[in-house]
Amino acid sequence: MKKQVVLDVVCPYCNHSLMDNEVEIKGLSSVCLNIRSEDNKKGTIHLCAAYECFDHQPDLPIKDGEILGLCCPHCHKELLTKEICQVCGAPMADLGLASGGFVRICSRLGCFNHFLSLTDQESAHEIAL
Ligand SMILES: [Zn+2]
Ligand SMILES: [Zn+2]
Repeated sequence: MKKQVVLDVVCPYCNHSLMDNEVEIKGLSSVCLNIRSEDNKKGTIHLCAAYECFDHQPDLPIKDGEILGLCCPHCHKELLTKEICQVCGAPMADLGLASGGFVRICSRLGCFNHFLSLTDQESAHEIAL
């Protein structure tokens, strides 16, 4: 049976939950972030909370390959870091986890580079599929 890791994501700055119960992707609460497109349009994006699932629903028309500015919808801090994606050279964004640790994702839409760092493996919510 395949295990799926479901992320419970918080803002690394204000610690506010970034989960949105009202928008579900694949039957899970989604991760909601503010975005800024390359042509400076602002909107929101919902990401699938299942680790290694890359389904997303932006409310702006975004081209594949565009680098998004990612911000916390609560404190509006920029979540991009100085760390550069090893695959495509775009900045990586940092998201905290409610259980401790963090997840880092590439800010380029369509680039699937990401990694997960858990302080405690047991604290990830795992559900059997
Ligand atoms: Zn915040
Ligand atoms: Zn990348």
